Amino acid sequence: MDVSAPAPWSAVRMSTADIREANVAAVCRTLRGHGGLTRAQVGRLTGLTRPTVMAVVQQLVAQGLVVEEGQLKAASGGGRPGTLLHFRSRARVVSAVRLRNARVEVTLADMAGNVLAHSLAPTAPEPGDWTDLVASFAGRIAELRDAHPDLGPLAAVAMTLPGSIDRARGRWTVVRVEGWSDLPAADALADAVGVPVGMVNVVAATLIGRLAQEPAPAQSAALVYVGHGVGSAATVGGRLIDGATGSAGELGHCVLPGVEALCRCGRRGCVESVTSVLHLRREFERITGRPAPPTLAGMEDSGDPAVLAMLELAARRLALAASWQVNIVNPEVVYFGGNPFTDGCTRFFGWFAEELRASAYRPNSAGLSVLPLSSGATLRGAIQVASELLPPFLRPELRLVC
Ligand SMILES: [Zn+2]
Repeated sequence: MDVSAPAPWSAVRMSTADIREANVAAVCRTLRGHGGLTRAQVGRLTGLTRPTVMAVVQQLVAQGLVVEEGQLKAASGGGRPGTLLHFRSRARVVSAVRLRNARVEVTLADMAGNVLAHSLAPTAPEPGDWTDLVASFAGRIAELRDAHPDLGPLAAVAMTLPGSIDRARGRWTVVRVEGWSDLPAADALADAVGVPVGMVNVVAATLIGRLAQEPAPAQSAALVYVGHGVGSAATVGGRLIDGATGSAGELGHCVLPGVEALCRCGRRGCVESVTSVLHLRREFERITGRPAPPTLAGMEDSGDPAVLAMLELAARRLALAASWQVNIVNPEVVYFGGNPFTDGCTRFFGWFAEELRASAYRPNSAGLSVLPLSSGATLRGAIQVASELLPPFLRPELRLVC
């Protein structure tokens, strides 16, 4: 269909600008999906008229988004050869910034999600104020961008931060730091770098990253993540659930009946207080008198029956809380892991999956997939968040956050 000539009876009235943008998006999508195509082939695949294709391609070439390279050989039956057009995924770059253990990790990726450059640097020894931290993010992005002059301009950034993220409002809260509440971090970084900036917490980024690897991801999925904190994230209808203040998925602070352990949040009995990395390591050391291995798999390998009993109790408690989420959200799939600490654990995952199936309501658990998730998806998720902030005609077809 050529949208340059909308039917007069059409119920949806599109402005000229809307039509132009839809045509540009159609040409970009077609070239991204097919590699080298001639203008005539683009016209056939999009249904756009020849003059429209010519005009759109001219605009995209001028913007550096499309390059002309190579010729389509004439078919034996005649026909004119045509210059091949290619979409340049590197014509714009997106950046993912992650604050992790007092270090800033900056990544540049192309519009297809391929990582092009990466840097890891300590933050200032004592960032006096959150604005210093944001300024250091901007500085690191600029450094990495300047080190790769062959890449296109920066077009969007996503920040992955610890603490609470209100993604819709771009606000950041770190409960443990006095005064670091409801900080307008996204706007501050956007002012510094001059492009749209999104925010996402590590658990949500990990789930998004996992789903972005699928050609047709589950419409409703959840992730249970065990790190220094314990959290979850979920999608419904193919979109991430944020909640009113961005705090959806605080699985770690659901209170377990009969548990008295003190949580970092100041309350007693939170799931996190008896299932986090900190708890599991502390318990391992108390039981064995030895330093805890860096991973859950290492703890399982100790073979100590008291350690295994401790891990089983934690796995089943975590699964009990996750079963409430399964009953409420009714996901198709629950992933467990996403963090190096949980990589390769088998027994803990087995107890978790078994208890989750046993505790969830049967109609919700009957068709449920429970799958381990190895680390590495978090960065992919942040790149996806940044990519969804690109101008509409350059956004990925798969949309998970907006
Ligand atoms: Zn708590």
